[in-house]
Amino acid sequence: MSWGTWIDLNAGNDAMKWPYPIRYGQEDAVDVDVLVLGGGIAGCWAAISAAEQGAKVAILERGSILGSGAGTGCDHWQWAITDVPGVSLSAEDFTQALVDNHGGYNNGISRYIQARDGYETLLELEEMGGKVRDTEDTFKGAEFRDEQTKLLFAYDYENRIVMRVWGMTFKRALRSRLRRLGVDIHERVALTGLLTERRGEDATAVVGATGLNVRTGAFNVFTAKATVLCAARPQRIWTYSTELAGSCDLRMPGAMGGGYAAAWRAGTEFAMMEKSIPAGLSINPSAPHGSGHPSNTWYPCTIVDANGKEVPWVDRDGHTLETFEERCRPAPGQRFFIKGGGQSSLPHQGLRDYQGPRLTNVDTLVEKGEIELPLYADLPSLPAHERRAIFGLMVGQEAKTKHTYANYTHAGFDPDRDMLLSYQQLIGGGGYGTSAEGAKTVLGFPSIRNAHSGTTGGPVVDWNLRTNLEGLYAAGDGMLGGNDHSHAATTGRYAGRRAAWFARQATARSGSREQIEAEKRRVYSPLQRKDGVHWKELLAGINKTMQAYCGAVKSEGLLRMALEAGEDLKHVVDTELAAVNPHDLANALSVVDILTAGIDIIVPACLARRASSAFLHFSRAEYPAMDPPEWQKFVTIRQEGGVVKQGERPLNLGAPFEENYLAHRPAAPIGA
Ligand SMILES: Cc1cc2nc3c(=O)[nH]c(=O)nc-3n(C[C@H](O)[C@H](O)[C@H](O)COP(=O)(O)OP(=O)(O)OC[C@H]3O[C@@H](n4cnc5c(N)ncnc54)[C@H](O)[C@@H]3O)c2cc1C
Repeated sequence: MSWGTWIDLNAGNDAMKWPYPIRYGQEDAVDVDVLVLGGGIAGCWAAISAAEQGAKVAILERGSILGSGAGTGCDHWQWAITDVPGVSLSAEDFTQALVDNHGGYNNGISRYIQARDGYETLLELEEMGGKVRDTEDTFKGAEFRDEQTKLLFAYDYENRIVMRVWGMTFKRALRSRLRRLGVDIHERVALTGLLTERRGEDATAVVGATGLNVRTGAFNVFTAKATVLCAARPQRIWTYSTELAGSCDLRMPGAMGGGYAAAWRAGTEFAMMEKSIPAGLSINPSAPHGSGHPSNTWYPCTIVDANGKEVPWVDRDGHTLETFEERCRPAPGQRFFIKGGGQSSLPHQGLRDYQGPRLTNVDTLVEKGEIELPLYADLPSLPAHERRAIFGLMVGQEAKTKHTYANYTHAGFDPDRDMLLSYQQLIGGGGYGTSAEGAKTVLGFPSIRNAHSGTTGGPVVDWNLRTNLEGLYAAGDGMLGGNDHSHAATTGRYAGRRAAWFARQATARSGSREQIEAEKRRVYSPLQRKDGVHWKELLAGINKTMQAYCGAVKSEGLLRMALEAGEDLKHVVDTELAAVNPHDLANALSVVDILTAGIDIIVPACLARRASSAFLHFSRAEYPAMDPPEWQKFVTIRQEGGVVKQGERPLNLGAPFEENYLAHRPAAPIGA
């Protein structure tokens, strides 16, 4: 059956009739001080903090605020440093460690904001109704509990830089606060583009955005004095299969790059877009989310083989850890560890200074016949508090895994008695973070990659979290170096205040009619065709192009072939892309956004870096030397008039952190 027939079938079938009134082309106009794009964690916080400053705020979200985004849950609030009870590190020190751990390829500005404002933000969230303490005393006496504050910690119990929290309560608390503050909420509206105005010779200002209602097909025109980009980062660039993998990526499948594509078209500067990691953990979400393992949520679970033999844990120096307690302590002579878990062969353990305990290399043990597959997460053998902190608290609170918790419990799974199958040996090279030796390691699916797992590339920001475009701010996963929940919360909160402050001084804005009409023509063009290429087919073409020409090892020739294939795909968009209803149309436009992220942003970024880099997992065939000194810098790209402009920025972005933070610190809420 061709896609054309499929579309015809749906269009003519009464049972498949579209349930909402169709309003194609009709305009809904909104004018505000601050417009927030995306209603995930960063977006909610940005809207709240801007509204608390007295700004008139609107937020647009493709799904529903309550259920959308990667942050519908959260089991660990990481890397809050300043004022956390029992933490002796400074935010400056910790930020420097995070930056160094990525070879300098991190965003020191946003990471310092996270370390410095993380605890303050958590307390504000608690005041809104988020649950952050063990008020029922379930974990009384546990080693990871601060008895005075009832806060629970994870990973490194000595240094307490990560907290266990009840993240399923967070989104509801944020939405209540949005409503109470009178933020104008537009759900089921997908961002399609930014409205811009020229400011002199080579400056552009963002003056709002356009959106498509995914239910009615109506066109939304938002004008604003300041706009905060919080639409996270694109997924599905190298792979997508609802049928095989159950989804496509570790992150939210609804994150399809609308924010990146709109920002790119408007002229935003991006950095680190050449970084991607082999898909492994990230290609099949059932691995991290439906099974037991020794990382992240499941840290530091014991893993046993088919015969019940324990897979040994080792510290950063490879010394075998004899006791369970040692898994939550730094190695002798180590100050603290940033993250533990995984296994010692994975390419994402970071610098030795900050490496946490992990499993001995499973593949080697299997090859030597020392352990036998399959592996299991041995919950019953754990100390009772640890067992319940994993399967109970954390698995129940980490967004998608709440379904694992609910369904497995309903089916009779009992962590006091039962083990859970582990896919640790299948995980390969995907996952979190980066490392010095990473690019050389061939694990997982080397040519099926993920540009947006771990600390990633994105729009470059300054200490106001403003991009290079006047009036456009960015926060959360959708900015250079974004990756996690408290980072999204703190940067959203910070950017919202800066945007409100800017809006107070800015004059009224209005989008140009010509720009709006051009965007309407682009947005509705797939409706012109019933018979044609459907979004899934187009996406398959994009994925194949990226796998074949922008895979594990890149070269000038391959990357040029990617650009050529990209031109063919763009021709398909212009002449054949078809959609039959508003939802289908929104999906089609999102796949065009993925095309922009892959072909227009990532491929030129890969061409621009003419050196291999271990930290970026970036291998150029013609330039095999890893990280030569002259290439230890951010390569930046932006487009102007359809031409890619290349630039560079030094590593250690934002340093000295404290000094710069204090010089730019946003004002407290009015009345506070
Ligand atoms: C299953 C899972 C568990 C996680 N657990 C943790 C954890 O315990 N701790 C932790 O620190 N991190 C965790 N993370 C990561 C964390 O959730 C994210 O880093 C965080 O949600 C990022 O916030 P954000 O606002 O930038 O993006 P999101 O929360 O993903 O929000 C982006 C929003 O933008 C919307 N959007 C996208 N495109 C458009 C468009 N074109 N138009 C309109 N709206 C659009 C999306 O619908 C979404 O609501 C987890 C992630 C996943 C997937």
